[in-house]
Amino acid sequence: MPVQIDLTGRVALVTGASRGIGRAIATGLAHAGATVCINYRQQHERAKETLQAIEAAGGHGFVHQADVSDRAQAEALIGAVVARASRLDILVNNAGISREGLFVEMSDGEWTSVLETNLDGVYHCARLGAHHMLRRGWGRIINLSSVLVSRAGRGQVNYAASKGGVNALTAALATELGPRGVTVNAIAPGLIETDMSRPFIGMSASKIREWIPMRRVGRPEEVATLAVFLASEEASYITGQVIAVDGGIG
Ligand code: NAP
Repeated sequence: MPVQIDLTGRVALVTGASRGIGRAIATGLAHAGATVCINYRQQHERAKETLQAIEAAGGHGFVHQADVSDRAQAEALIGAVVARASRLDILVNNAGISREGLFVEMSDGEWTSVLETNLDGVYHCARLGAHHMLRRGWGRIINLSSVLVSRAGRGQVNYAASKGGVNALTAALATELGPRGVTVNAIAPGLIETDMSRPFIGMSASKIREWIPMRRVGRPEEVATLAVFLASEEASYITGQVIAVDGGIG
């Protein structure tokens, strides 16, 4: 049977949707019919571009600034979505940063900023978001992890630790929320062409070919396709999973 994703009537929040993977996911969800809140931290113009792309394609959304690493701002973000759209059905915890540096030389700031954004940000948004989903007995929480949890190179201890935490949180939270109709899954991208990955993509093309069985970097839209599916009714029996979109690196 062909799968036709219809998210009409659903309300979604995508954190870090001003660019990169978050923008592609927000656009994909809106294309499937959801009303999408486009969150960003600093880049207002780029968040507006995401909204314009959605509206140009006939979709619906709105923009809301918040730093998800800050509990009060994350709570205000969830509150703003519910105030504006009366509900929250789909939460995509996509906002993330990387701060590379050798572990023994890493500053406390490089450690905490990554953990606070990539892991605490998920905690802040999922905790309040789950309350709204549980009230309606339906919800989708999708967290962005990374293939680097098990494949980190030098200088990526903080990032790998944060995403390992996301994987553990995903599995544990799925156990708690599953009986109440809310699924929790993670997507673990490999090397996807965005601002964050540009320095890695700078490494020689031959090295990328060696590392990635598909012999190329991925596109944000190739991650978004899975996010849209996980957000749908059709993915109702998938929970607690970390699913790679990595061209075979895994
Ligand atoms: P990106 O291009 O650097 O974009 C990051 C997004 O997150 C931006 O929208 C940024 O907002 C937002 N953001 C950062 N800190 C935030 C905060 N504290 N509060 C709210 N928003 C915040 O990143 P990306 O490559 O698309 O990555 C998206 C996710 O996928 C991340 O979780 C990343 O770890 C994960 N991932 C990426 C790759 C890859 O190869 N690209 C691979 C594996 C996993 P502003 O624009 O306002 O700064």
